[in-house]
Amino acid sequence: MIIKENFELKDLCTFSIGGRAKFLCLIKTKTDLKEAISKARSENIKVHIHGGGSNTLYSDKDLDLLVIKMNNIGVNHNNDHLEVLSGTPWSYLLNYCLKNKLYGLEPLMGIPGSIGGAVYGNAGAHGMEIKDAIVEIECFDLESNEFINIDLENFDFKYRYSDFKKKKNLIIWSIKLACSSDSNSKNGSLEEYKNFRLEKQPQGKTTGSFFRNPENDSAGRLIEAAGLKGYVIGGIKSSEKHANFFINFNNATFKDVIDLKNLIQKRVFDEFGVNLIPEIITVE
Ligand SMILES: Cc1cc2nc3c(=O)[nH]c(=O)nc-3n(C[C@H](O)[C@H](O)[C@H](O)COP(=O)(O)OP(=O)(O)OC[C@H]3O[C@@H](n4cnc5c(N)ncnc54)[C@H](O)[C@@H]3O)c2cc1C
Repeated sequence: MIIKENFELKDLCTFSIGGRAKFLCLIKTKTDLKEAISKARSENIKVHIHGGGSNTLYSDKDLDLLVIKMNNIGVNHNNDHLEVLSGTPWSYLLNYCLKNKLYGLEPLMGIPGSIGGAVYGNAGAHGMEIKDAIVEIECFDLESNEFINIDLENFDFKYRYSDFKKKKNLIIWSIKLACSSDSNSKNGSLEEYKNFRLEKQPQGKTTGSFFRNPENDSAGRLIEAAGLKGYVIGGIKSSEKHANFFINFNNATFKDVIDLKNLIQKRVFDEFGVNLIPEIITVE
């Protein structure tokens, strides 16, 4: 396991904002993970799990945390499922599926970050959520200090939510996802999904959608209707292309982001009575 001290978290996340973590542990194996947990216990310091950093806003203060970067990467398959280590990036899984002619996960393939991060937040796109494909999840349980399989019958997944958000003792290690070697199971066109992202989503330092969509509406539409599309605070702005994407265009601070978030929430609530809830994870 590699351990770094006073590591700049902004270098690990797509928002490019974040102070120094006291420790960063880069883990590849189950033994590495156990060692990182032991280190946190002996240092008496809180642990934060980091996948691909595409849905996380870190405070830019120094953080008294041991951050575990999930570098457990790898995929195997048989005819009807993929077994994926949680640190595997979607781009890696996409290449694996293309090479091995495996179908079914196409709508999810353009999502940034890791498969573990996607399971944590039940990521989704183009009408599919990762929960639709989950067959099994193996986790490390910080309470029992063992690797366990989740009882999926009694585990909740809904829009941008999984019970992992409540059960902080669970670190996702590997996931079995349904797939098919029959090309008739293809779920839409990768090319079209890619073009959709290029057309509709802004480029740059962002975490994607900042707020969850309220039921039967879109956060982007509400922000635009409140006159805040393109609004700038310090180095952060609501994108002119997609108002629900915050873009760090000029060394934005954590405070810039929180100020923009608060302003949008207040204005949208005052004008439309809707309480926008952040989709992103804030670590401070
Ligand atoms: C340009 C852009 C487009 C995006 N488009 C989409 C989209 O279409 N759909 C969508 O749903 N999201 C989208 N996102 C948001 C983001 O990519 C997803 O939420 C993604 O699944 C986050 O994965 P990550 O590995 O980067 O998570 P991170 O940001 O690293 O972590 C997010 C949370 O998951 C937890 N976590 C990560 N790995 C584990 C693990 N192994 N065990 C336990 N907890 C873990 C972390 O502790 C943290 O709380 C987009 C983001 C960007 C930047």
